[in-house]
Amino acid sequence: MSDILQTQALVQCDCCDYFCIPAGADYEICPVCFWEQDAWGISKPDQRSGANHGLTLRQGRNNFLQLGACAARFKQHVMDESMRRHYRHVPRHIIALETPANLCPYCEQDAIWRVRLKAHPEYSFLMCFECDAVWDSHQPVSSESGSTFPVYMQSLGLIPDWNVERLETVDWQDAGE
Ligand SMILES: [Zn+2]
Ligand SMILES: [Zn+2]
Repeated sequence: MSDILQTQALVQCDCCDYFCIPAGADYEICPVCFWEQDAWGISKPDQRSGANHGLTLRQGRNNFLQLGACAARFKQHVMDESMRRHYRHVPRHIIALETPANLCPYCEQDAIWRVRLKAHPEYSFLMCFECDAVWDSHQPVSSESGSTFPVYMQSLGLIPDWNVERLETVDWQDAGE
């Protein structure tokens, strides 16, 4: 299968992830999802896109998955679904491409909490409830410095006791600045 589409360099649409945007084109409107490529690319998924009338990329991507267009009003303008197969499609997970502030550096799924043991309130430390990573309160948080909850409890000479109290989330990425 050789057709005209493969003779031009196409790059991936920020919104629908189809390779259907001519390389080097600025503010091109995607024929698959009708998202207008803006200066942010996929770097700021929660930034309101002026080129897309204030829609964020994350909203546009969700709309495309649900409606087949980046916004409901463009459904009638996008190419027929059967035409999409002419373009290469590599779905991306933009949540992993951005690094939102203060998410756990291990799992990037949840915030880090300052917690204390209910049975031993003198012990306070930092913890991710998603992946059970633990940091000592005095330790800078990083993907190298963490321990796991059971290991940390052992280092304190305690039996792992999941009865912890959440005190507050920690802005650990700002802490060193
Ligand atoms: Zn698109
Ligand atoms: Zn985690």
